[in-house]
Amino acid sequence: MAKLRSKGATMDLVRRHNITAKKKFGQNFLTDDSVLDEIVAAAGVCEDDHVIEIGPGPGALTERLAEHAGHVTAIEIDAQMIPALEEILSGHDNVEVICADVMKTDMHVIAEKIPGKNLKVVANLPYYITTPIVTSLLESGVKYKSITVMVQTEVAQRMQTGPGSKDYGALSLAVQYYSKPEIITDVPPESFFPMPGVGSSVIRLDLYEKPPVSVSDDALMFRIIKASFMQRRKTLQNALKNNPDVRIPAEKTAAALESMGVSPMIRGEALTLEQFARFTDLVK
Ligand code: SAM
Repeated sequence: MAKLRSKGATMDLVRRHNITAKKKFGQNFLTDDSVLDEIVAAAGVCEDDHVIEIGPGPGALTERLAEHAGHVTAIEIDAQMIPALEEILSGHDNVEVICADVMKTDMHVIAEKIPGKNLKVVANLPYYITTPIVTSLLESGVKYKSITVMVQTEVAQRMQTGPGSKDYGALSLAVQYYSKPEIITDVPPESFFPMPGVGSSVIRLDLYEKPPVSVSDDALMFRIIKASFMQRRKTLQNALKNNPDVRIPAEKTAAALESMGVSPMIRGEALTLEQFARFTDLVK
Protein backbone atom coordinates (compact mmCIF):
# COMPACT_ATOMS: atom_id res chain seq x y z
CA MET A 1 0.00 0.00 0.00
CA ALA A 2 1.49 3.36 -1.06
CA LYS A 3 2.57 5.61 1.80
CA LEU A 4 1.54 8.72 -0.13
CA ARG A 5 -2.07 7.69 -0.66
CA SER A 6 -4.24 10.75 0.10
CA LYS A 7 -3.58 14.46 -0.12
CA GLY A 8 -3.07 14.61 3.65
CA ALA A 9 -0.13 12.18 3.53
CA THR A 10 1.69 14.23 0.87
CA MET A 11 1.04 17.50 2.72
CA ASP A 12 2.32 15.95 5.95
CA LEU A 13 5.53 14.73 4.27
CA VAL A 14 6.11 18.16 2.69
CA ARG A 15 5.61 19.88 6.07
CA ARG A 16 7.87 17.50 8.00
CA HIS A 17 10.71 18.02 5.51
CA ASN A 18 10.21 21.81 5.45
CA ILE A 19 9.65 21.72 1.70
CA THR A 20 8.38 24.96 0.22
CA ALA A 21 7.15 24.82 -3.37
CA LYS A 22 9.56 26.78 -5.56
CA LYS A 23 8.07 28.62 -8.51
CA LYS A 24 11.43 28.76 -10.32
CA PHE A 25 11.41 24.94 -10.52
CA GLY A 26 7.74 24.73 -11.55
CA GLN A 27 6.81 22.89 -8.36
CA ASN A 28 3.10 22.02 -8.26
CA PHE A 29 2.75 18.73 -6.43
CA LEU A 30 0.07 16.28 -7.54
CA THR A 31 -2.09 15.34 -4.57
CA ASP A 32 -5.02 13.61 -6.30
CA ASP A 33 -4.85 9.80 -5.94
CA SER A 34 -7.11 9.07 -8.88
CA VAL A 35 -5.00 11.22 -11.26
CA LEU A 36 -1.77 9.62 -10.00
CA ASP A 37 -3.24 6.16 -10.61
CA GLU A 38 -4.53 7.21 -14.03
CA ILE A 39 -1.05 8.35 -15.14
CA VAL A 40 0.49 5.01 -14.17
CA ALA A 41 -2.33 3.13 -15.94
CA ALA A 42 -2.09 5.31 -19.08
CA ALA A 43 1.62 4.58 -19.31
CA GLY A 44 0.87 0.85 -18.89
CA VAL A 45 3.75 0.55 -16.42
CA CYS A 46 4.77 -3.06 -15.71
CA GLU A 47 7.68 -5.27 -14.58
CA ASP A 48 9.23 -5.17 -18.08
CA ASP A 49 9.68 -1.40 -17.93
CA HIS A 50 12.50 0.89 -16.96
CA VAL A 51 10.69 4.14 -16.16
CA ILE A 52 12.51 7.47 -16.16
CA GLU A 53 10.68 10.04 -14.07
CA ILE A 54 11.62 13.68 -14.54
CA GLY A 55 11.04 15.80 -11.42
CA PRO A 56 9.83 13.33 -8.77
CA GLY A 57 9.36 16.13 -6.20
CA PRO A 58 8.31 14.60 -2.86
CA GLY A 59 7.58 11.28 -4.59
CA ALA A 60 3.84 10.55 -4.86
CA LEU A 61 4.15 9.44 -8.50
CA THR A 62 7.59 7.86 -7.96
CA GLU A 63 6.24 5.56 -5.26
CA ARG A 64 3.45 4.30 -7.50
CA LEU A 65 5.89 3.82 -10.38
CA ALA A 66 8.18 1.79 -8.09
CA GLU A 67 5.25 -0.45 -7.20
CA HIS A 68 4.62 -1.35 -10.85
CA ALA A 69 7.88 -0.97 -12.83
CA GLY A 70 10.92 -3.24 -13.03
CA HIS A 71 13.16 -0.24 -12.42
CA VAL A 72 12.68 3.52 -11.90
CA THR A 73 15.26 6.27 -12.42
CA ALA A 74 14.05 9.57 -10.98
CA ILE A 75 15.90 12.78 -11.88
CA GLU A 76 15.26 15.74 -9.57
CA ILE A 77 17.00 19.13 -9.74
CA ASP A 78 16.05 20.28 -6.23
CA ALA A 79 18.27 18.78 -3.48
CA GLN A 80 15.62 19.75 -0.91
CA MET A 81 13.46 16.85 -2.18
CA ILE A 82 16.03 14.11 -1.62
CA PRO A 83 15.41 13.34 2.11
CA ALA A 84 11.64 13.16 1.50
CA LEU A 85 12.20 10.82 -1.46
CA GLU A 86 14.50 8.62 0.64
CA GLU A 87 11.79 8.32 3.28
CA ILE A 88 9.01 7.53 0.83
CA LEU A 89 11.04 5.11 -1.27
CA SER A 90 12.58 3.15 1.62
CA GLY A 91 11.55 -0.44 1.07
CA HIS A 92 11.76 -0.12 -2.73
CA ASP A 93 15.09 -1.42 -4.02
CA ASN A 94 14.24 -0.82 -7.69
CA VAL A 95 14.56 2.99 -7.65
CA GLU A 96 17.57 5.21 -8.26
CA VAL A 97 17.21 8.91 -7.47
CA ILE A 98 19.62 11.23 -9.26
CA CYS A 99 19.91 14.83 -8.12
CA ALA A 100 20.56 16.65 -11.41
CA ASP A 101 19.18 18.96 -14.07
CA VAL A 102 17.52 16.73 -16.67
CA MET A 103 18.64 19.10 -19.43
CA LYS A 104 22.25 18.36 -18.51
CA THR A 105 21.79 14.62 -18.07
CA ASP A 106 22.93 12.14 -20.72
CA MET A 107 19.85 9.97 -21.18
CA HIS A 108 21.81 7.42 -23.25
CA VAL A 109 23.85 6.63 -20.12
CA ILE A 110 20.69 6.28 -17.99
CA ALA A 111 19.07 4.03 -20.60
CA GLU A 112 22.12 1.76 -20.90
CA LYS A 113 22.29 1.17 -17.14
CA ILE A 114 19.23 -1.11 -17.27
CA PRO A 115 19.38 -3.13 -20.49
CA GLY A 116 16.63 -5.41 -21.76
CA LYS A 117 13.67 -3.39 -20.48
CA ASN A 118 11.19 -1.16 -22.30
CA LEU A 119 12.15 2.44 -21.67
CA LYS A 120 9.30 4.79 -20.73
CA VAL A 121 9.25 8.38 -19.50
CA VAL A 122 6.52 9.22 -17.01
CA ALA A 123 6.36 12.66 -15.37
CA ASN A 124 4.38 15.57 -14.05
CA LEU A 125 6.61 18.01 -15.89
CA PRO A 126 7.75 21.43 -14.67
CA TYR A 127 5.77 23.74 -16.98
CA TYR A 128 8.49 26.40 -17.39
CA ILE A 129 10.60 23.95 -19.37
CA THR A 130 8.11 21.48 -20.94
CA THR A 131 8.89 22.13 -24.61
CA PRO A 132 12.72 21.89 -24.30
CA ILE A 133 12.39 18.68 -22.25
CA VAL A 134 9.96 16.97 -24.65
CA THR A 135 11.87 18.11 -27.74
CA SER A 136 15.20 16.91 -26.41
CA LEU A 137 13.70 13.52 -25.40
CA LEU A 138 12.26 13.08 -28.90
CA GLU A 139 15.41 14.19 -30.72
CA SER A 140 17.86 12.32 -28.47
CA GLY A 141 17.83 9.08 -30.45
CA VAL A 142 17.21 7.14 -27.21
CA LYS A 143 14.71 4.34 -27.92
CA TYR A 144 11.79 5.31 -25.67
CA LYS A 145 8.64 3.25 -26.07
CA SER A 146 6.42 6.02 -24.75
CA ILE A 147 6.44 9.37 -22.97
CA THR A 148 3.46 9.97 -20.66
CA VAL A 149 3.47 13.44 -19.17
CA MET A 150 1.35 16.03 -17.40
CA VAL A 151 1.64 19.32 -19.25
CA GLN A 152 -0.31 22.56 -19.57
CA THR A 153 -3.55 21.83 -21.50
CA GLU A 154 -2.60 24.38 -24.14
CA VAL A 155 0.72 22.59 -24.75
CA ALA A 156 -1.01 19.18 -24.97
CA GLN A 157 -3.33 20.65 -27.62
CA ARG A 158 -0.33 22.04 -29.53
CA MET A 159 1.25 18.59 -29.56
CA GLN A 160 -1.84 16.93 -31.01
CA THR A 161 -3.16 19.46 -33.54
CA GLY A 162 -2.69 19.86 -37.32
CA PRO A 163 -2.76 22.67 -39.95
CA GLY A 164 -5.65 25.12 -39.69
CA SER A 165 -5.43 25.52 -35.92
CA LYS A 166 -3.76 28.48 -34.21
CA ASP A 167 -2.08 25.96 -31.90
CA TYR A 168 -0.29 24.24 -34.83
CA GLY A 169 3.45 24.88 -34.81
CA ALA A 170 6.99 23.52 -34.60
CA LEU A 171 6.15 21.52 -31.45
CA SER A 172 3.17 19.79 -33.18
CA LEU A 173 5.39 18.74 -36.08
CA ALA A 174 8.27 17.52 -33.90
CA VAL A 175 5.91 15.48 -31.72
CA GLN A 176 4.05 14.02 -34.72
CA TYR A 177 7.24 13.16 -36.62
CA TYR A 178 8.51 11.03 -33.75
CA SER A 179 5.32 9.80 -32.10
CA LYS A 180 1.58 9.31 -32.08
CA PRO A 181 0.15 11.67 -29.42
CA GLU A 182 -3.02 10.98 -27.43
CA ILE A 183 -4.51 13.26 -24.79
CA ILE A 184 -5.58 10.97 -21.94
CA THR A 185 -7.40 13.29 -19.58
CA ASP A 186 -7.74 16.91 -18.44
CA VAL A 187 -6.77 17.68 -14.85
CA PRO A 188 -8.11 20.69 -12.89
CA PRO A 189 -5.86 23.01 -10.80
CA GLU A 190 -7.46 21.62 -7.59
CA SER A 191 -5.57 18.35 -8.11
CA PHE A 192 -2.26 20.07 -7.25
CA PHE A 193 -0.63 21.87 -4.35
CA PRO A 194 -0.06 24.74 -4.84
CA MET A 195 -2.68 25.12 -7.59
CA PRO A 196 -1.22 26.11 -10.99
CA GLY A 197 -2.77 29.12 -12.73
CA VAL A 198 -3.54 27.04 -15.84
CA GLY A 199 -5.39 23.85 -16.75
CA SER A 200 -3.37 20.65 -17.12
CA SER A 201 -3.66 17.51 -19.24
CA VAL A 202 -2.02 14.12 -19.33
CA ILE A 203 -0.75 13.18 -22.79
CA ARG A 204 0.92 9.98 -23.97
CA LEU A 205 3.29 9.95 -26.93
CA ASP A 206 3.80 6.48 -28.41
CA LEU A 207 7.11 6.63 -30.23
CA TYR A 208 7.38 5.30 -33.77
CA GLU A 209 10.02 2.75 -34.72
CA LYS A 210 10.21 4.67 -37.97
CA PRO A 211 8.78 8.18 -38.66
CA PRO A 212 5.49 8.22 -40.61
CA VAL A 213 7.06 10.31 -43.41
CA SER A 214 10.43 9.88 -45.05
CA VAL A 215 12.78 12.82 -45.55
CA SER A 216 16.42 12.77 -46.61
CA ASP A 217 17.57 15.39 -44.05
CA ASP A 218 15.36 15.69 -40.98
CA ALA A 219 17.63 18.30 -39.36
CA LEU A 220 17.12 20.57 -42.38
CA MET A 221 13.35 19.88 -42.29
CA PHE A 222 13.19 21.05 -38.67
CA ARG A 223 15.23 24.17 -39.46
CA ILE A 224 12.72 24.95 -42.24
CA ILE A 225 9.79 24.28 -39.91
CA LYS A 226 11.22 26.55 -37.18
CA ALA A 227 11.89 29.33 -39.71
CA SER A 228 8.33 29.03 -41.12
CA PHE A 229 6.66 29.37 -37.73
CA MET A 230 8.99 32.11 -36.49
CA GLN A 231 7.19 34.39 -38.95
CA ARG A 232 3.97 32.44 -39.29
CA ARG A 233 1.92 35.26 -40.87
CA LYS A 234 4.39 35.59 -43.74
CA THR A 235 4.35 33.49 -46.89
CA LEU A 236 6.76 30.55 -46.81
CA GLN A 237 8.85 32.29 -49.51
CA ASN A 238 9.39 35.37 -47.34
CA ALA A 239 9.86 33.49 -44.09
CA LEU A 240 12.62 31.30 -45.56
CA LYS A 241 14.55 33.78 -47.66
CA ASN A 242 15.74 35.98 -44.76
CA ASN A 243 16.11 33.38 -42.05
CA PRO A 244 19.83 32.98 -41.27
CA ASP A 245 19.39 29.27 -40.45
CA VAL A 246 18.06 28.37 -43.89
CA ARG A 247 18.35 31.29 -46.39
CA ILE A 248 16.42 29.65 -49.22
CA PRO A 249 15.93 32.03 -52.19
CA ALA A 250 12.26 32.92 -52.81
CA GLU A 251 12.38 31.57 -56.39
CA LYS A 252 13.60 28.18 -55.14
CA THR A 253 10.78 27.98 -52.57
CA ALA A 254 8.20 29.01 -55.20
CA ALA A 255 9.47 26.39 -57.67
CA ALA A 256 9.39 23.62 -55.06
CA LEU A 257 5.85 24.55 -53.98
CA GLU A 258 4.67 24.67 -57.58
CA SER A 259 6.05 21.23 -58.28
CA MET A 260 4.13 20.01 -55.22
CA GLY A 261 0.92 21.50 -56.68
CA VAL A 262 0.72 24.06 -53.86
CA SER A 263 0.24 27.82 -54.23
CA PRO A 264 3.61 29.64 -54.07
CA MET A 265 1.89 32.19 -51.83
CA ILE A 266 1.10 29.62 -49.12
CA ARG A 267 2.16 30.17 -45.50
CA GLY A 268 4.16 27.51 -43.70
CA GLU A 269 1.38 27.16 -41.11
CA ALA A 270 -0.84 25.59 -43.82
CA LEU A 271 1.60 22.78 -44.69
CA THR A 272 1.27 19.23 -43.32
CA LEU A 273 4.18 17.16 -42.03
CA GLU A 274 4.20 15.21 -45.33
CA GLN A 275 4.39 18.49 -47.28
CA PHE A 276 7.27 19.82 -45.15
CA ALA A 277 9.13 16.54 -45.80
CA ARG A 278 8.54 16.73 -49.56
CA PHE A 279 9.48 20.42 -49.65
CA THR A 280 12.73 19.69 -47.78
CA ASP A 281 13.70 16.99 -50.28
CA LEU A 282 12.99 19.36 -53.18
CA VAL A 283 15.04 22.32 -51.87
CA LYS A 284 17.94 20.34 -50.42
N1 SAM B 1 6.42 14.64 -9.55
C1 SAM B 1 6.00 15.55 -8.51
C2 SAM B 1 4.50 15.51 -8.39
O1 SAM B 1 3.87 15.05 -9.35
O2 SAM B 1 3.97 15.94 -7.40
C3 SAM B 1 6.50 16.98 -8.75
C4 SAM B 1 6.10 17.58 -10.09
S1 SAM B 1 6.49 19.31 -10.21
C5 SAM B 1 5.29 19.83 -11.38
C6 SAM B 1 7.95 19.35 -11.22
C7 SAM B 1 9.21 18.78 -10.57
O3 SAM B 1 10.30 18.89 -11.52
C8 SAM B 1 9.67 19.49 -9.32
O4 SAM B 1 9.98 18.56 -8.32
C9 SAM B 1 10.93 20.26 -9.76
O5 SAM B 1 11.85 20.49 -8.72
C10 SAM B 1 11.47 19.34 -10.83
N2 SAM B 1 12.32 20.01 -11.82
C11 SAM B 1 12.21 21.28 -12.31
N3 SAM B 1 13.14 21.53 -13.22
C12 SAM B 1 13.88 20.39 -13.35
C13 SAM B 1 15.03 20.03 -14.13
N4 SAM B 1 15.57 20.89 -14.99
N5 SAM B 1 15.54 18.79 -13.98
C14 SAM B 1 14.99 17.89 -13.12
N6 SAM B 1 13.91 18.18 -12.34
C15 SAM B 1 13.36 19.41 -12.46
